[in-house]
Amino acid sequence: MSISADPTVPLDALGQLTATERTALRRHPERGSFDRATAYAILDEAFVAHVGFATEQGPMVIPTVYGRRDDTVYVHGSQASRMMQVLGAGVPLCFTVTLVDGLVLARSAFYHSANYRSVVLLGCARVVTDPTEKALASRVIVDHVVRGRSAEVRPPHDKELRATAILALEIAEGSVKVRTGPPGDAPEDLAPDSPYRATWAGVVPLASVAATPVPEAQVPPEVAPPSLSRFVR
Ligand SMILES: Cc1cc2nc3c(=O)[nH]c(=O)nc-3n(C[C@H](O)[C@H](O)[C@H](O)COP(=O)(O)OP(=O)(O)OC[C@H]3O[C@@H](n4cnc5c(N)ncnc54)[C@H](O)[C@@H]3O)c2cc1C
Repeated sequence: MSISADPTVPLDALGQLTATERTALRRHPERGSFDRATAYAILDEAFVAHVGFATEQGPMVIPTVYGRRDDTVYVHGSQASRMMQVLGAGVPLCFTVTLVDGLVLARSAFYHSANYRSVVLLGCARVVTDPTEKALASRVIVDHVVRGRSAEVRPPHDKELRATAILALEIAEGSVKVRTGPPGDAPEDLAPDSPYRATWAGVVPLASVAATPVPEAQVPPEVAPPSLSRFVR
């Protein structure tokens, strides 16, 4: 894996995710793509991923924060965490990120939907052992949650880094799916004599926004909170 000095590789210079039999969308394939630029834009805008994997107790899907640098996503956790132990042992994983952009209200229950952008990545994680990459991955994850945060907080010291497991997933096999637009109502519900024609239908946009920061009790009053623009993605 390469760690480039500049994480801002232009998105339009990216190619495609690796398409495989298991990443082929069957339902609404026209909403799907393997476009890396779209995948990276979604990964960079969201901040929670759901990581699925098989365990001896059955399938598990665990939510977690993450960070992306170039063609790698990083997740971190306690060395004692089951997710880190299982994935660190090489168990295949499914890494899913979803942005819900709107609720799609149709004139029938059947055609209700959501507008969304989602990414599914498949693969096996690599345990990050190199101290330099581990420190970098730690910064990538913190900065993904709050832009520029790693530069203003105490970096993790060796003991904290040792207690933290960091996994890297190369972004290779995966898929993107995007739904936009109004509901696709059934013709019968749009007919002039349909009692449901006058039912309100449309899209209720949803957005994830940062509200006013609440300072911890010991923050001196003269210290300004982070600008809300740092949370805008
Ligand atoms: C917010 C939200 C709400 C949804 N609600 C529903 C719902 O109520 N009912 C429903 O059936 N579907 C829903 N979907 C769509 C759902 O995620 C699947 O796309 C859908 O089940 C189609 O499955 P399939 O049989 O075509 O593909 P599958 O056989 O399930 O998947 C094959 C491959 O397609 C790719 N893939 C599948 N879904 C996605 C995705 N969303 N994003 C990126 N790659 C994907 C993966 O690589 C996967 O390995 C929703 C999606 C989102 C994001």
